[in-house]
Amino acid sequence: MDSHSERLSPEARQFLKQDLISSDAAFIQKVPKVELHVHIEGTLTPELRWKLAQRHGIQPRFGTGSLKIESLEMLRMAYDNVISSAQLPSSGPTDHLVTFFQAYYSGFDFLRTKEDFFDLAMDYFRRAAAMNVRYCEPFFDPQGHTGRGIALSDIMEGFRDAQEEAMKLGVQSSWIMCFLRDQSPEAAMDQYKAAKMYKDMIVGIGLDSNEHNRPPSLFDEVFTLSRQDGFRLTAHCDVGVKDTHQHIHQVVDTVAKTGLDRIDHGLNAADDEALVSRIRNRGLALTICPWAYLRRETYTSIAERLRTLVAAGIKVCIASDSPVYMDHAWITYNLLLTKKMGGFTDAEMCQLVKNSVEMSWAEPNVKESIMREIEAMIKEDHNM
Ligand SMILES: [Zn+2]
Repeated sequence: MDSHSERLSPEARQFLKQDLISSDAAFIQKVPKVELHVHIEGTLTPELRWKLAQRHGIQPRFGTGSLKIESLEMLRMAYDNVISSAQLPSSGPTDHLVTFFQAYYSGFDFLRTKEDFFDLAMDYFRRAAAMNVRYCEPFFDPQGHTGRGIALSDIMEGFRDAQEEAMKLGVQSSWIMCFLRDQSPEAAMDQYKAAKMYKDMIVGIGLDSNEHNRPPSLFDEVFTLSRQDGFRLTAHCDVGVKDTHQHIHQVVDTVAKTGLDRIDHGLNAADDEALVSRIRNRGLALTICPWAYLRRETYTSIAERLRTLVAAGIKVCIASDSPVYMDHAWITYNLLLTKKMGGFTDAEMCQLVKNSVEMSWAEPNVKESIMREIEAMIKEDHNM
């Protein structure tokens, strides 16, 4: 990694992973964590995709389907070669370049039964437990499943069983249901009404998928109704996309009358002083997933914006997004990358982890117990 002014190559990102885990990683690995930005469909490992393909007797398709996947090893390689749409050559898509959204959505077809959704969630919860994640609010995209004829009850009941099982591993959770912003506001409203009966499992409503020309304001009606019904609200403001500052402004100030309760990503707010002060004054929190940005932005530009937001006193928490399609960089790697980018000490990293506890939508007793655990760990650690 000689130059930070260019986007890192896949090889450089692998090197970075090795470097991060072999350097002073013990505290970050050990600290109790809260994960507030992880797409459950973005945790479908090659191994689980392969297993589900066999379970259903279907081809282990990846991306557009033009890549012929004949072994688990080939599937793993395909995962490792996913690019961001920003990296598409100007000549346009080719059969051999699979973009993030193509990779992500091609995984949906393997999720067909309650057991599949249980396995997907449980696979993540087990990993979360191993990373000392105590509480998480995973996103899920029901429209990507119900649109294929999957019953919402199979999704939710599979998730519910996994949540109960995960409690035994010390991982508590609540779901954030996202609307696909590249589908219509009417479709979002239909999905919302159908899912309301699962309010005991769903703490928040979010907005994800392809943001190009799809501002959050399009979904004002369903967000307003969701707030009236007692849900917490958040929306993605992806990094480096067209109109990002306008989208962040809507999430901060105008959607659902007063703006939403959290911002997912929103790193570009750092470019605009007025936005920074509005976010700080509203006390809005941002979920930042630095590894997700490495394919779109330079290391230097991510690090500078991250430091700007933290220095401005904005509540930032670190999360992982869709780790299997992003070099398998789970929350621990995102925290380690943040530490390196910000030049932060373990004590400063602790504040970011505490932010994630505070900005979560967990019950007060859950938050208090995780906070106590972090405090005890800080006391124990002589270096802090
Ligand atoms: Zn996301």
